[in-house]
Amino acid sequence: MLLKRFSPYFGYLKPVRLQFLIGLFAGIAAAVASGAGLPFVIEYIVPLVTSDEAPEGLALVGALLCIPIVFSVRAIGSYVNAYFMAHAGMHVLEELRAKVFRRLQQLPLAFFQKNSAGDLMSRVMVDTQQLQTTLVTVVNRLVKEPVTLLAAVSALIFLSIKHENSVFMLIALASAPGCVLPINIIGKKLVKKARLAQEQAGAVNSVVSENISAIREVRAYNLEERESSRFRAACHTFFKASLKTVKYNKALTPLIELVTAFAIVLTLYVSVVQGIEPEAIAAILTALYMCYEPVKKLGAVSNSLRAAEASLDRLEYILHAEDSVPEAASPISMPKLAGKIEFQDVSFYYKAQEPALTSVNAQIETGEVVALVGPSGAGKSTFANLVPRFYDATQGTILLDDTEIKQISKHDLRGNVSLVSQEAILFADSIANNIRVGKPDATIEEVQAAAKLAHADSFIEAFEDGYESILSERGSSLSGGQRQRISIARAFLKNAPIIILDEPTSALDAESEHQIQLALEALSKGRTVLIIAHRFSTIQHADRILVFEAGQIVASGSHSELYPSCDLYRDLYDKQSKTALEASNLT
Ligand code: ATP
Repeated sequence: MLLKRFSPYFGYLKPVRLQFLIGLFAGIAAAVASGAGLPFVIEYIVPLVTSDEAPEGLALVGALLCIPIVFSVRAIGSYVNAYFMAHAGMHVLEELRAKVFRRLQQLPLAFFQKNSAGDLMSRVMVDTQQLQTTLVTVVNRLVKEPVTLLAAVSALIFLSIKHENSVFMLIALASAPGCVLPINIIGKKLVKKARLAQEQAGAVNSVVSENISAIREVRAYNLEERESSRFRAACHTFFKASLKTVKYNKALTPLIELVTAFAIVLTLYVSVVQGIEPEAIAAILTALYMCYEPVKKLGAVSNSLRAAEASLDRLEYILHAEDSVPEAASPISMPKLAGKIEFQDVSFYYKAQEPALTSVNAQIETGEVVALVGPSGAGKSTFANLVPRFYDATQGTILLDDTEIKQISKHDLRGNVSLVSQEAILFADSIANNIRVGKPDATIEEVQAAAKLAHADSFIEAFEDGYESILSERGSSLSGGQRQRISIARAFLKNAPIIILDEPTSALDAESEHQIQLALEALSKGRTVLIIAHRFSTIQHADRILVFEAGQIVASGSHSELYPSCDLYRDLYDKQSKTALEASNLT
């Protein structure tokens, strides 16, 4: 029953079935050599070469060679088995990770806000590893161990018949429940403990990833000690949770060995009472021991299945996560939109009972530049985020070029929208490839042309390696203004009809700001632009301003229309102007 849950994943072994089968057969050969080969060596070869009628010369060598042959089959078989199983296992791991990662690429933003980056990383890296180990070792053992068991039981039956004594078989059979019981009890405990340990592994990862991404804040606020203690605490909780899994996992082997020890004592007693010769006793004991070995390993299989079940739950949480922004059943292909946007009675809730937008209506014409202004938390970003379907409206309809966005293929929809975000995030790659994000097959001439339009060409060319300069992770080797211009170059290259511009809140130096202003003005020409305006310097170029307050659009018009008529707008504008004036006096 437990295996049934894993059955869909055994398919990952298909592409490496040849390696897997080689490994499996090698494992079976090793198993037969262990299960039957060793007892027979003890039963026949040892008495033969030590008896009075021991063969001589070549016959003796031949008889003795049987021992290394049995051991060689066991050793080579085990090695080939381990190598090919590792090959198959690594392939499964690669496929599994790729599948989970691909699924993460499809999931909506809300999923990433609900789950910490560190925990997701742990699921992609650690839980996949756990599952792959299980898939490979389980299949391997489920074939190999019963063969060993069969070989050993056959040897036992043969020896029992030969010595006309079936008590040995009865001993083996009677001790079976003694082995199965601990396997079951421990397995149940283990699945709970394993789940807890894997959650804690995720928590440790979260602390690391959060710390590294916020390293500037950690330094600036002297948080090193606090962070170290936080990490230590997370590690310690993980340590305690892991130790509990070890406690149960490692109890199984000694318990089965204890049962084995009693069985051996009983066998010895019966053998002595019945007056069986010492060689036969040794052979029977080896066969008996060889019966318990596979039982022990099958017990471990059950344990690792339980541990992997916990990992599987964690992976399926990603693999089966509901896409809250699903693709339409028959998505409409619209590779090139004109850029008209319409919100019809749109409401949006991040959390129940707390609307971020309430009954919003807006029509934005093709090529219109619209600034979204309003107090912090009024819903400006939320409004803009609904256009590329980062989230879906809870109520109401959004149309692009008169087509409901939910009907447009997500790929085409997002291909029609360029995002110039507040904090331009760049990848650890060359500057050229960072600009190519907008159009992966762009030639270097196209990249250079886009950089020129974004006023980024002069600073890029000043670098020793120019466009081939490699950036550090997140582009942290560039200034905020430079990053922003590369992000604008991406948008030029992408040439999408709709631009969402999240204006940087942090002030840039006057020169950088001027360059960005020029670049944005050029980018806005002929496109529909939504500017999430934090500073009012940008809105002078807007055709229209939408004023947001508490999730609603409370006014719409040009600056000259709004300033006298809308108190909120006038208030915000005056405050901004005052701040800007004070800032300019300071500099
Ligand atoms: P700002 O100017 O500060 O960026 P904004 O006008 O863009 O603000 P939004 O970011 O749209 O405002 O936020 C609107 C409301 O939704 C706020 O009350 C905010 O707290 C809430 N909110 C925003 N993002 C989330 C989220 N991911 N989860 C839950 N609530 C959110």
